[in-house]
Amino acid sequence: MVEKKMNKPQKNGNKKSSNTIRSIIFFSLTAIFVYALILNFSHPAKVEEVALSDVVARANDENGNIKKISVSGNDINITLKGKDQPTEHSYKDASGTLYDLGLINYCNKLSGDELKKCNEKYPTVEYSEPVNYSDIIFNILTLGIPIVAIIIFFSYMLRQAQSMNRENMGFGKAKAKLYGPDKKKVTFEDVAGNESAKQDLEEIVDFLKNPKKYESLGAKIPRGVLLAGEPGTGKTLMARAVAGEANVPFFSISGSEFAEMFVGVGASRVRDLFSKAKKNAPSIIFIDEIDAVAHKRDARGGAGREDEQTLNQILVEMDGFDNESGVIVMAATNRVDMLDKALLRPGRFDRHVDVTLPERKDRLAILKVHFKKKPLEEGVDLDSLAAKTAGSSGADLANIANEAAITAAREGHKTITSGDITEAFERVAIGPKRQSKVMNDYEKKLTAYHEAGHAIVGHVLPDSDPVHKVTIIPRGHTGGVTWFLPPEDRSYKNIYELKDVLARAMGGRIAEKIIFGNDDITTGASSDLKNVAQLAKEMIIEEGMGDETRNLVFPDEATGYYTISTGKPYSEKTAELIDKEIKKLSDEAAKRAELVLSANKKVLDRLATALLEKETLEEEDLPELLKGTTLPEGARLH
Ligand code: ADP
Ligand code: MG
Ligand code: ZN
Repeated sequence: MVEKKMNKPQKNGNKKSSNTIRSIIFFSLTAIFVYALILNFSHPAKVEEVALSDVVARANDENGNIKKISVSGNDINITLKGKDQPTEHSYKDASGTLYDLGLINYCNKLSGDELKKCNEKYPTVEYSEPVNYSDIIFNILTLGIPIVAIIIFFSYMLRQAQSMNRENMGFGKAKAKLYGPDKKKVTFEDVAGNESAKQDLEEIVDFLKNPKKYESLGAKIPRGVLLAGEPGTGKTLMARAVAGEANVPFFSISGSEFAEMFVGVGASRVRDLFSKAKKNAPSIIFIDEIDAVAHKRDARGGAGREDEQTLNQILVEMDGFDNESGVIVMAATNRVDMLDKALLRPGRFDRHVDVTLPERKDRLAILKVHFKKKPLEEGVDLDSLAAKTAGSSGADLANIANEAAITAAREGHKTITSGDITEAFERVAIGPKRQSKVMNDYEKKLTAYHEAGHAIVGHVLPDSDPVHKVTIIPRGHTGGVTWFLPPEDRSYKNIYELKDVLARAMGGRIAEKIIFGNDDITTGASSDLKNVAQLAKEMIIEEGMGDETRNLVFPDEATGYYTISTGKPYSEKTAELIDKEIKKLSDEAAKRAELVLSANKKVLDRLATALLEKETLEEEDLPELLKGTTLPEGARLH
């Protein structure tokens, strides 16, 4: 996308450099002039011609009335007795130098009292090298150039300061990026999936295209549209697509940019942004990440006054819209719950468009968009990638597509292969393969049993997703990975499924325990245990799935109320109960995993051995290896 910055005309650059050259020349000339002047003044101006013979005679006469004679080339400076300043004389009528003229420094070799007496009688004679014009030039160069440089430097600083000043005054100018209607557009075609959001926005496009149609019926054109959804779901993309579809200018600024501004600047930026947009109406103003300025005013307890001013200015501007202004303000956030309510009132951001994480068919569509310009090897199945990527956002998928192309290039492939895509997916999901990490035999065996433990528990428990792949090749921070694939996207999970997720996550550590003994606990399971803790906590606090707290939820800080004693939305007693419930869930998960693995130890050995041998087991290898597993009664929940 080509973007055009509003406030920096291209011409500026040329003008600036010619200015600089002019000022360099000016300052150099000034410096040279000043230097010449100084040079000039250091010589007394009055020059009087004398006959040399006279000078010589007087100099050699002890009553000659001359205190000092300095000779330099053709110049003689004579200081008379009783005077401080010498008079300059020039000597014109002889060739050769005065050295030859017999001027004697009578007192040269004397010292002490004798020198004093002598100096009273005879003039001191000083010879010095005549002024050399190449010296002057040299002086100009050595002295003048630094002076000129300093002058230039200061004048540059001065100008810099001036322009800073000017910019300061221009801080209020919005740094909004304009995506003009004539530039390469983003359209709804570039946004895959999200049909319902697109439908909602279709209407906005129509408002922008045919405002008359609505006005004539007395309909109020919406002013604010809030796009809400998780990061990477394509909110920014969608807003730009609206501008592209309606063929109107698009002014975008990010809430986080406001946060960087000096006090008072945010508000004036807003003013400027709106006035620009109005001038270019019909147009779209897009405020990305609006939660950065429009969080609940009480949520931060008085902090962030700058945000408040910015927010207020946005509200003022929006209230000031009349029906004909033709400007629609779009905003994006991933935290609707954090937004100030004033922003959501009618006449402001009263239209909400939810941008959701893509479902499987949408993921396929997004993948197709991002693989469109990338050569795929024949037979590459994007749908299976779509199936594997439940929970991924559009940005994640775009990332996978890009990684796949990079992988293919690195491997020297002409087209992107399934292998490249799998590698890209796993790289994005977990991290790059760690070729360098060498596991010793013990570690390898431990990892194999650990992963086999996950796989078997997941396979045996009835409400778990099927095992898709098991590997003991280290990747990212993990020693190995067991992938489970949800067969389809579902919005809800029941408690049995979640409990099976907990149990299979415990499967790794329990397998280690069964094979290597109770005391041989390793750090290999720490992320499993974290996941267990997290999920168990969510089940209790958010989903009301505790035995004793069934149907009770304990909302989090952002939305919750607070009891005085704990600072949490529940009492001390309840806090203990929650802890107890969480522990109960993880204990139960560990117990079920242990029951399953003890009952299927043979399969565990078989799978671990296969893993040690092949390192990676694909979906098609697994049925054979997992044959003959049984579900022990104790592990059954329903
Ligand atoms: P958000 O603003 O919601 O955080 P973005 O609009 O910045 O997300 O999306 C980031 C990138 O992800 C986009 O530039 C695009 O490449 C990709 N993307 C996200 N959603 C989609 C989609 N529905 N269709 C195609 N690409 C998408
Ligand atoms: Mg965005
Ligand atoms: Zn594990």
